[in-house]
Amino acid sequence: MSSRLPGFYRLPLPARRARVAELAGLGPDDWQVIEHGGIDAQVADHMIENVIGTYALPFAVALNFTIDGADALVPMSVEEPSVVAAASNAARMARAGGGFTTKASPPVVIGQIQLTRVDDPDLGAAAILDAKPRLLEEARALVPRLCARGGGPVDLTARVLARGGPDGGVIAVHLHVDCRDAMGANLVNGLCEDTADRIATIAKGTVGLRILSNLTDGRTITVTARVPDEALKADDAPGIDVRKAIAAASRFAELDPYRACTHNKGIMNGVDAVLVATGQDWRAVEAGAHAFAAHTGTYKPLATWREEEGSLHGTLHMPLAVGTVGGALHAHPGARLGLHLAGVKTAARLAAIAGAAGLATNLAALRALATDGIQRGHMALHARVVARAAGATGELVDTIARELAASGEVKAEAARVILARLTGEPA
Ligand code: NAD
Repeated sequence: MSSRLPGFYRLPLPARRARVAELAGLGPDDWQVIEHGGIDAQVADHMIENVIGTYALPFAVALNFTIDGADALVPMSVEEPSVVAAASNAARMARAGGGFTTKASPPVVIGQIQLTRVDDPDLGAAAILDAKPRLLEEARALVPRLCARGGGPVDLTARVLARGGPDGGVIAVHLHVDCRDAMGANLVNGLCEDTADRIATIAKGTVGLRILSNLTDGRTITVTARVPDEALKADDAPGIDVRKAIAAASRFAELDPYRACTHNKGIMNGVDAVLVATGQDWRAVEAGAHAFAAHTGTYKPLATWREEEGSLHGTLHMPLAVGTVGGALHAHPGARLGLHLAGVKTAARLAAIAGAAGLATNLAALRALATDGIQRGHMALHARVVARAAGATGELVDTIARELAASGEVKAEAARVILARLTGEPA
C-alpha cells in the first residue's frame, strides 16, 4: 500500500472516499460509520453523562507518510484548517529522505500511591524497597491476563516527599506497570487501589491518593527524519537557506519557553488530530507532553532540528500513552475505523504514527515560518472557512476563497462583497 496519492486533495469527496476504501479495504458498514460520525445519540448516552446529542468534526487522511519502512494513511480529526495539508506536505519532504524512523520505549506507566503520616519516612521508604520482590509478585498476581500478554507490574520505587508539615511524613510510591496495548489508566488505577493498603502497612503510614501519573516518562516515542535540501526548497529560497532557517528556528525554541510553547503547539496539531481520530485520551497525552517538556525546570521543545551536510535532521522525543484496546474504543466504531485506516494493530505503532504526525506538522510550520511566514499558506485554507461563513455554497466557496487569498484580505466583510458581486444579490 502506498500513501503517495498525487492529486488526492483535488478529487471530489465521493472519489476520495472510493480511493481510500480501495486502499484500506473498507466495506459498506465502514461508510455508514464515516457518514454518521461513528456514533449516534443512543451510543453517546452510554459513553458520558447528560448527553443531548453528538458533535461532529472533520475526518481526513494525511498522505505521504512512510514510517519505519511501511506506508500508512494517517487518520486525522481536527477543526483547524491546514493541519492535514501541512502534515501531508511535510511527510512528502521526509519521504524524500527515507521517511520517519521511530523507537518506542516499553509501554510502562507509573501508578502513584501517596502515603501520608508515615512515622519515619526514610525507614518507611526503605521498608517498601525491602519488600519490593514480594509486593511486585502480589501485584502481578492481580493482573494474570496482562502478565500472560507479557505486561504487568515491573518495578516499585519510593521517594520521600516530606519529613514533616501538614501531612506528616509523605512518601510517593511508584508502581511501574507495563500496559502492553492499553493506555492503562483504569488498569493502573485499579492496581494502585488494590495494593495501597499493604504498602501503607509496611511503611507505617496512611493511604492518600492512588492514581496513575500522566507524566508517562517511561512510555515515550522517539521519531527521527532526515530531509534532503532538495525537498526543503521553496519557490523563492534554495534548500540550504530553508535548512539553515529551520535549524535557527529550532534553536530559538530551545532558548525561549515562549517560542517553545508555540513550537510544541505545532507538534500537538499533528499528534492530537491522530489521537482524536483514533479515540484516544488526548488530554492525558497533552498533560504528559507539557510536563515532560518542562521536566528540566525550563520548558523545552519536544522536537529539535539540526543541520547535516546537505540535509536537515529532526528528532522528536515525547511521552505518548495510547491504546488499541480499552478506553472509548469498544464503544466508538469511528475510532476503530481510524485504527483500521492507519493499519494499526499495536499501541506502539499508533504512538509511532501520532509521533510522526507531530514531527511532520512541526516541520511544516517551521518551514512556512522560515520562508513565507505562516499566514500565506494558512490563509489560503482559512479563506474557504471565511467564504462559507459569509454564505457561499458549492463552487462559489473555492472561487471566493481564491479571490480572498489573492487579495490578502481574508475577512468576512470582503467575502460578503465578493459573494454579492458574483450572485448579484445585495451583500
Ligand atoms: P481499560 O479500562 O478498558 O483496560 C484495558 C483492558 O484491556 C484491560 O482489562 C486488559 O486486561 C485488556 N486487554 C486486552 N488486550 C490487551 C492487550 N493486548 N494489552 C493490554 N491490555 C489488554 O482501559 P485502560 O487503558 O486501562 O484505561 C483507559 C481509559 O481510562 C481511557 O478511557 C482514559 O480516558 C481513562 N482514564 C484516564 C485517566 C487519566 O489519564 N488520568 C484517569 C482515569 C481514567
